[in-house]
Amino acid sequence: MFKKMRRKLTVFYALIMAVFFIGLVFGMYKTMQWSITSEQEREVLLFAEEEANEHVFLFNHMTSFEAEQQNYQEGSGRMYVYAFDMEGNLRNASRPSPQLEAIVLDKIAQWDTPDGQVIGISEAAHFKWIYNVMMTAKPIMENGKQIGVVYVGRDVTAVYNGLHKATLVLVLIAVFALLAAVFIGYLMAGKAIVPLKNAYEQQRQFAADASHELRTPLSIVLSAIEILEEEPEIKTPFIFEILNDMKDEVLKMTNLVGGLLVLVRSEQPGQKIIKETFNLTLAVEQILRKIQPLAKKKEIHIDFINKPIVELHAESEKIKQLLLILLDNAIKYTPDQGRVEVKLQKNLETNAVKIFVADTGVGIDAANLQQIFERFYRVDKVRSRVCGGSGLGLSIAREIVNIHNGTIHVDSIIGKGSTFIVELPGF
Ligand code: ADP
Repeated sequence: MFKKMRRKLTVFYALIMAVFFIGLVFGMYKTMQWSITSEQEREVLLFAEEEANEHVFLFNHMTSFEAEQQNYQEGSGRMYVYAFDMEGNLRNASRPSPQLEAIVLDKIAQWDTPDGQVIGISEAAHFKWIYNVMMTAKPIMENGKQIGVVYVGRDVTAVYNGLHKATLVLVLIAVFALLAAVFIGYLMAGKAIVPLKNAYEQQRQFAADASHELRTPLSIVLSAIEILEEEPEIKTPFIFEILNDMKDEVLKMTNLVGGLLVLVRSEQPGQKIIKETFNLTLAVEQILRKIQPLAKKKEIHIDFINKPIVELHAESEKIKQLLLILLDNAIKYTPDQGRVEVKLQKNLETNAVKIFVADTGVGIDAANLQQIFERFYRVDKVRSRVCGGSGLGLSIAREIVNIHNGTIHVDSIIGKGSTFIVELPGF
């Protein structure tokens, strides 16, 4: 139980930390991207301004030969410039890498971006930018008259690659931090549940001591009642009736105390089960013989169908107790003349054994299906009291199944009946 709680706390903590780290990395990435982009945009705009001014002079003083030579100048660094006159002739260029040039010229041919606005052209593959450029256009003005246009751009691939590398490093750091946080969370969760564990252990010990101490006085009272019943002096039916009622109540209390003791003992840390291989089919038959008088009283027919010889490796007394609880309930919660069916099934591959106990009783509604395994939980308190249960039967059954690493669940239709299915692992 505490291990499960610790695991749940750790998973919860890990989820919170994961959301936090994802948010942090994403936030940092976006902030870095925004700051880099705005800085680069500013530089490209400034560069365009400078180039537009410079080209007024160049257009007026460059001879056609010089222009010819300039036309195909390889650009230096990461900036590139294309200057066109109003007829659309390329008058000057500082070119980008050949790989990029085709794309840039294509972009210029279909240019429709307003002046002063920077656009980005990018292509990425395998988490790496192949190229990533920023471009803008600026008219070349002379005395208020446009004489041409410059297109300038900057190759920012390296900058964005740097950003991606930094983000990758951030992600790695976040993953390591998350792993460390989960480990610390696990340790902290262990520490956090210590007081709970202690309180639970104290409560368990109290229940164990109380039920143990109550057993002796209860058996003394029971023997006293039995002595009184035998006493020849007591003849009045009224006193007999009182004695009978007292005996019933003492027996109920003895059952309750016995049930509690079984539960708290099975929860004791380090509690071991003594497993042996036994014939489950014979065990079922033995319990059916024991329960037969109860079934007879209510004219309930019990069927043990499909009786393969099933061997089980488990604590036989506990498994018999489990069968008794399920069969006792099936009879208790089935009206007179109903039917109860027991079935065993063995998985030949895994050796796991399934025990089915089905009845044609009152059934349990879906809302109560899980709670019935809780201590003292009873669906219909009045009916349960009349039937004489203590509300501990199914929690003991679940405990027995748990210590054998098995599962128990119930399928039920209200008014039609219930089927309890126990699955115990093979050996
Ligand atoms: P109880 O001593 O009251 O029988 P259990 O723990 O054995 O306590 O069962 C808990 C509750 O589950 C019962 O009070 C009853 O309402 C419901 N229940 C258990 N078995 C059956 C069944 N076979 N059919 C219908 N209801 C059942």
